[in-house]
Amino acid sequence: MIAEKVKRLKPSATLEINRKAKELKAKGVDVINLSVGEPDFDTPDPVKESAIQAIRDGFTKYTEVNGIPELKKVISEKLEKENGLSYSPEQVVVSNGAKHSLYNIMLAILEPGDEVIVPAPYWVSFPEMVRIAGGVPVFCRWREDFKMDLGHLKSLISKKTKALILNSPSNPTGIVYEKKEIDGVAEILLKNNILCISDETYEKILYDGISHTSVASHSPEMKKLTVVVNAVSKTFSMTGWRIGYTAAEKEIADAIGKIQGQTTSAPCSISQKAACFAIKEGKKLYSGMIREFQRRRDFLINNLPDDFVYPMPMGAFYLFFNFRDMDSMVLGKRLLEEKFLAVVPGAEFGADRFIRISYATSMDNLRITVARLKEFAEENR
Ligand code: PMP
Repeated sequence: MIAEKVKRLKPSATLEINRKAKELKAKGVDVINLSVGEPDFDTPDPVKESAIQAIRDGFTKYTEVNGIPELKKVISEKLEKENGLSYSPEQVVVSNGAKHSLYNIMLAILEPGDEVIVPAPYWVSFPEMVRIAGGVPVFCRWREDFKMDLGHLKSLISKKTKALILNSPSNPTGIVYEKKEIDGVAEILLKNNILCISDETYEKILYDGISHTSVASHSPEMKKLTVVVNAVSKTFSMTGWRIGYTAAEKEIADAIGKIQGQTTSAPCSISQKAACFAIKEGKKLYSGMIREFQRRRDFLINNLPDDFVYPMPMGAFYLFFNFRDMDSMVLGKRLLEEKFLAVVPGAEFGADRFIRISYATSMDNLRITVARLKEFAEENR
């Protein structure tokens, strides 16, 4: 009964590990869950208040399919002010999280067999979304610094290449592309007329004072080839509110709106009001959280034994490590069963000698994590 394309889909292993970890926890085992992809902070109170007010005001009905005008305006102003990108509210579409935005894009741009270049290591859902939409993911190799190998990128480009997915700061590695690197990628895309799906979900979660560059800011020509994707999920600790958005050329925005109009319709009216408030308030709502993530990242990199090798995370809240070149599925299973650490095997992200841990967890948990990893390293000398 089930369609072939769905049978071919991989279930999300991140969720599977979470389930296993919860199961062990329910049995009373002291499992530290390092597999989670969301901030461990509560949504800021003023954001909650704005949503409560929206409910009291009766703002509880269907809204405009592409998002309420107020929110689209706030997003367009944010993009101008914070990213130097000029998009009119008509070029913005608000969806149910960045995940939904990304899937809408795939549906909007892909013909059957179109190829989308996905730089590895990649966020688990990128290739699967391309596949559900009838496209073919093509994987680009990484260099030593975990950024994409531009020589390989060029060699992958063919007549079938429709788009590249760029995700900076990156899940799962935490690497962040610098402006000149973004420019290098943009030039290749421009030369070959390839779209860039720019997932900027972790834009604000950056360390050591570095800044974020959107590929769309490279040039007016590149902006036309870019679909910017962002969300309030990670920045404002609002993963459950399900608000993400795209900004793109009007033709693409209209296509996304058309798909949304016949599938999910607009996202939750109340969440849209809350997102409006959060984006307008900006930094004061998230700067404390970023400081805490920086403290945790610093703790990990200063205390992990040398046996753990990783690209330095400059953004997001993940550390992506290799331990004695062990197979990630074996290592992941052993860390859960022997050290009660729930981690995500890198095979999920196209890097089977790596493990992703999330430091969106308390300092106490990170202290225990480091102690257990030290023990594991000692026991496996
Ligand atoms: N893109 C990346 C790179 C992510 O890591 C995530 C969440 N794990 C998303 C998009 C989806 O975000 P949202 O919750 O807004 O759908």
